[in-house]
Amino acid sequence: MFENLSSRLSGVLDKLTKQGALSEADVSTALREVRVALLEADVSLAVARNFVTAVQQKATGQAVTKSVTPGQQVVKIVHDELVAVLAGDNPEPGRLRIDSPPAPIMMVGLQGSGKTTTTAKLAKRLSEREGKKVLMASLDTSRPAAMEQLAVLGRQIGVDTLPIVVGQDPVAIAKRAKSQAALGGYDVYLLDTAGRLHVNDELMAEVEAVRDIAKPHETILVVDGLTGQDAVNVAEQFDGRIGISGVVLTRMDGDGRGGAALSMRAVTGKPIKFVGLGEKMDALEEFHPERVAGRILGMGDIVSLVEKARETIEAEEAERMMKRFQKGRFDMNDLAGQLNQMLKLGGMQGIMGMMPGMGKLSKQMEASGFDDRVIKRQIAIINSMTKKERKLPDLMQASRKKRVAAGAGVEVSEVNKLLKMHRQMADMMKKMGKMGKKGMMRGALS
Ligand code: GDP
Repeated sequence: MFENLSSRLSGVLDKLTKQGALSEADVSTALREVRVALLEADVSLAVARNFVTAVQQKATGQAVTKSVTPGQQVVKIVHDELVAVLAGDNPEPGRLRIDSPPAPIMMVGLQGSGKTTTTAKLAKRLSEREGKKVLMASLDTSRPAAMEQLAVLGRQIGVDTLPIVVGQDPVAIAKRAKSQAALGGYDVYLLDTAGRLHVNDELMAEVEAVRDIAKPHETILVVDGLTGQDAVNVAEQFDGRIGISGVVLTRMDGDGRGGAALSMRAVTGKPIKFVGLGEKMDALEEFHPERVAGRILGMGDIVSLVEKARETIEAEEAERMMKRFQKGRFDMNDLAGQLNQMLKLGGMQGIMGMMPGMGKLSKQMEASGFDDRVIKRQIAIINSMTKKERKLPDLMQASRKKRVAAGAGVEVSEVNKLLKMHRQMADMMKKMGKMGKKGMMRGALS
C-alpha cells in the first residue's frame, strides 16, 4: 500500500533533511513536489492543495528548535498533516458500535467492491477477536450466487448465516434476520445488501428501505481502493442518500495509488475503519491514521527525533518554572508567562497539564469557562499594570484596579477575578514548593 507515494514523498523530503539551513524558496519547491506526488497518487485536487497550504503555514511560523534541522522539522509537519488528513472523527479505528444486542450492521457498496468478502471478514473478526455471536444475512436477491457465496464463507469461518428463502425481498429478509438474531441470542447481525455496477436510484431505494427497517448501528460502505477518486465519489453519493458511519477500503494490497485513503475523510468527513489487504478471510486491518502516515512517509526516526527535541525543550521550560515556584516566587509576570504559554500550546491543557499537580486546577479553570478569549483579556489586564504592580500584586487597591480595567478595556470584576486566580495559584505553588518535588505528586493525588 502507498509504495509509489511513499517513495516520492520520502525522496522529496530526504533532500530537505540533508540541508543545513532552509530558505522559504527551498520549502516552496519541496512542497510543490509534494503536491505533484499527492496528485499522482490520485488524491483530490482540493485535498492536495489544502494539505500543502497547511504545511507551508506551519513551516513558516515554526520556532527554531535546537538539535534538529529545519528539514527534519518540515518532515514532522508533513507527518502531522498526513495524520490530520487521515484521521476520522472516530478516535478508535476498527471499533464498531455494537450497543444493544442484537446490533444490526448494514454493509453497502457497489458490486465487485468486495462487500461480501468484507462482510465475512468483519464477521470473523467480531466472532474470533471480540467473542461475539454473529449472524450474517445476504440481501442480494438479484444474484442467488452472491447469497450462496456468503453461505460458503460463513461455513468456512464458522459463522452462522440466515437460511436462504427463495423469493423473499430484501426488506423481508432484513426483518427475518432481525427476529432470528433476537431469538438466537446473537450479539450482532450483518446485512450484506445488494450491489449494482453503478450508483443508481433503484439500488439506493432498496438500501434505504432496508435501512429504515433495520435501523443499523453502523452503516459500513465498502469501496475499492484501487478506484481512487471514484471511491470517494461513491462514498459521497452513498453518504448523501443513505448516511454511512464508516468506510472499508478494499484492495489496498495492490500497487494502487492509494489516494482514496487520503481524500476520503477530508471529502466525506467519514472515517476509514478498516482496509482490505487480500482475498483471505483475515486480510483485514484496522486503519490507524498514525501508523498509515508513518508508513507513507517512511521517516519514523526523524518524526520521533523532532518529537523528542520538542519534549525536551518543553520539559526544560517546565523545570525552570518549577524551580521558581519552589522558591515561592509567582508574580504577575509569571502568570502572564503561563497564560502566553497556554495560548501558544493551543489552550488550557498545555503547560498546566505538563506540570505535576496542575491537572486538577486546569480542569477547574476550564469548567469555569476559561477559554482563549479569556486568556487574551487576562494578558491585557496584566499588560495594563505597572512594573511594580506586576511584581507586587498586593498593591492593587480600588483606584489601581479601576485604572487597569480601563486600560485593558474590561470590567473591574474581571480584574478581581484575575487577582483571585493569581492568589490561588501563588498559594498552591508555595505549598507545592514546600512539599518538594516528590511531595508535589503526592499532594496532587490526594
Ligand atoms: P462484492 O460483489 O462487492 O460482494 O465483491 P466480492 O466480495 O465478491 O469480491 C470481489 C472480488 O474481490 C473477490 O474475488 C474477492 O476475493 C476480491 N477481494 C475482496 N477484497 C479484497 C481485498 O482487500 N484485496 C484483494 N486483493 N482482493 C479482494
